Amino acid sequence: MHCPNCKSKDIGKIGTNQYYCWNCFVEMSLLKGRLSMHQVEEDGSLSSLDDLFEDEDLQIGM
Ligand SMILES: [Zn+2]
Repeated sequence: MHCPNCKSKDIGKIGTNQYYCWNCFVEMSLLKGRLSMHQVEEDGSLSSLDDLFEDEDLQIGM
């Protein structure tokens, strides 16, 4: 798999169905074959980036 945001393959697993892109620093949750993208804000909260992507960009082929 690669990061939908930057196309990097430098992705680390940080939890069950949770991944982190070390290239652009976004967090990804995998749910039912679909990625949900989040950016970690300075205060530690998460903001969704899903609006920035097309649905097809977030689908993960298994
Ligand atoms: Zn990335």
